Amino acid sequence: MLETLHRRSDQRRKMAFNRHGLGRHIPEGIKRTVRASCNFGCVICGSVPYDYDHLSEEFNAAEEHDPDDIVLLCDKHHRLKTAGILSVERILDAKKKRVSAASETRFKLELIRPDFETIWGSNVITAADNSILVDDEHVLTFRKSENDLEPLLLSGEFRDKTGNLLCAISDNEFVSRSDNVGDFTVIANRFTYKTPNGDIALAFLLNDARMHITSAFHVKRDAHVIVNGDMLRVGNVFSSMIFSKSAFRNVRTAISVGTGCDEFSYDRVDMGKIPTNSMSEVNMWDGHIGVRMDGRNRRRFTSNYDRF
Ligand SMILES: [Zn+2]
Repeated sequence: MLETLHRRSDQRRKMAFNRHGLGRHIPEGIKRTVRASCNFGCVICGSVPYDYDHLSEEFNAAEEHDPDDIVLLCDKHHRLKTAGILSVERILDAKKKRVSAASETRFKLELIRPDFETIWGSNVITAADNSILVDDEHVLTFRKSENDLEPLLLSGEFRDKTGNLLCAISDNEFVSRSDNVGDFTVIANRFTYKTPNGDIALAFLLNDARMHITSAFHVKRDAHVIVNGDMLRVGNVFSSMIFSKSAFRNVRTAISVGTGCDEFSYDRVDMGKIPTNSMSEVNMWDGHIGVRMDGRNRRRFTSNYDRF
């Protein structure tokens, strides 16, 4: 019995450490260096999800986690490397080229269900024509093909506090243009973008049924779309609206906000001073026009939300 236990713990040790005592776990600092040097995606095709792969030496022979020797590889290209079809030289060459290439991380969603929904904090917005618009431009939008067998096409963009584009989605293809200023991580189906000072600017979980946004600070001029925990806050410098536990199902435009200023920065703005309304546990469905907040004309809400 004791012998069996010993053997088991030996096996476990063998799995976690190699013969030089090197742990399989790569320290976070080294992972960050590897992510940046591979431009946050598989070095060959730019795809996520990816794994960290020791290159010149197999893990069993490696004595240290050398970031120069580790690359990001997607499943497909990892298999091609293991099979010996993709050479180490080719991979190293691709890594060099990726550093100088435009910073792009691509991720293609193959299977999006027709009932795909986006969850902004604790608020559900189903795949209607438009979800959230800023100056009539989509933050996220869905396009249904005439052929029901084809996937739903998701497009949109996420910006940061200063209006810089962090992540663009074009027909189910994610393209992150972080320009190496921050850190874009993909762990399983959780996407996170952190600014250089470590703030989470964007975080979402993604699968074929839903995109659950848990953190976002999208700013375009004076319009803001903020997700923080359960809360979705949308507005401009004149008024802001906080949504929680609400649902917009098949509403043509769920939430629309206009900007009131051409040039604007939230840097010195006390968000607490912007007049704010709350909307909780409200359901809207087909036929409702959603919530509209105008900026340029400085009109108050013209939505049918008063009815509730
Ligand atoms: Zn790849």
